[in-house]
Amino acid sequence: MNAPAPKPWVLDIAPYIPGRATNDGGRPVVKLSANENPLGTSPEAKAAFAAAQASLERYPDPGATALREALAAAHGLDPARVIYGTGSDELLHLAAGAYAGPGDEAIYVRYGFAVYDIAIRRVGATPVVALDRDYATDVDAILAAVTDRTTLVYVANPNNPTGTFAPAAEIARLHAGLPSHVLLVLDQAYAEYLEPEDDDLGLQLVEAHENVFVTRTFSKIHGLAAERIGWGYGSVAAIDAMHRIRAPFNVTTAGQLAAIAAVGDTGFVERSRAHNRQWRDWLAGEVAALGNAGLRAVPSETNFLLVLFEGPVSAETAYKGLMDAGYITRWLPGQGLANGLRITIGTEEQMRGLADALRGIVG
Ligand SMILES: *Cc1c(COP(=O)(O)O)cnc(C)c1O
Repeated sequence: MNAPAPKPWVLDIAPYIPGRATNDGGRPVVKLSANENPLGTSPEAKAAFAAAQASLERYPDPGATALREALAAAHGLDPARVIYGTGSDELLHLAAGAYAGPGDEAIYVRYGFAVYDIAIRRVGATPVVALDRDYATDVDAILAAVTDRTTLVYVANPNNPTGTFAPAAEIARLHAGLPSHVLLVLDQAYAEYLEPEDDDLGLQLVEAHENVFVTRTFSKIHGLAAERIGWGYGSVAAIDAMHRIRAPFNVTTAGQLAAIAAVGDTGFVERSRAHNRQWRDWLAGEVAALGNAGLRAVPSETNFLLVLFEGPVSAETAYKGLMDAGYITRWLPGQGLANGLRITIGTEEQMRGLADALRGIVG
């Protein structure tokens, strides 16, 4: 008797490994492994979330109308072309579901976001990895990987887990080099951490071309990771296709209300960005001071630093040492980064404590 057989491409998926929240003893420690906002959540978003309990018996607005209108007003977009997802993760899956299947190829950059490989394999398509250039997105390598079978390209900008950023001119060059039938998915999960003048102009590319889809999230700077809410912007045809395959009520009422309030609380976003810039630069300086121990931070435009261990003390040793000292970071051997630790920027106290611990481990 044969048991039901999962599709072979599904069994080829390496499961996503989330950032840990406890150490081996189960003791809660400082979690710097998931790029969450150390300032928490906008108070206005929290109040909106709390108010949602007045209508828990009702299904959420399936069209997320007020949220789409708030996003469109904030970014100067057409609300009809804004789509929303259970986290931007869902949107990355919707892009694959609508534009890739068995026989198709989808490209992402080595050391790209782990969800791309899962989204591509889930639909039976073939992932193609383009090499990076010193951990950063290499536009020429992506363009060289395009074949007749390519239907999708995923680029996170800035990228996770490297923190690197490709400026607008590079993204424009990438787009210009792609055949018009290839959909460029520009994942802007960390866009709000950029200085305003560093915009990669992805949303403008969507306005001008049918083959660009931008995704954003409320999980990072907006501090709403628990509610699982993201949004995307694309062509009329792309949004239509993705609506056909998304779950009917994919964004909760509380999530929609909290997200609308978060969009309005620009002060919270500003404070979060300023805090992040200050303590990311500070931590990068601390890492640079450990250069003679072989440590180096990859230049970051995000709310984390990828620290490379190229000296006698390995990233694994540092990961375990930091864990013992009460700091959980992200060690990513499964993504080919056995020599690196991704460290989320936390509070001042957390950053000072982590730097002390790191000095003790490698010094
Ligand atoms: C965190 C992250 C996301 C997704 O987050 P959601 O919580 O699903 O919205 C998407 N892309 C990148 C690159 C990320 O780091």
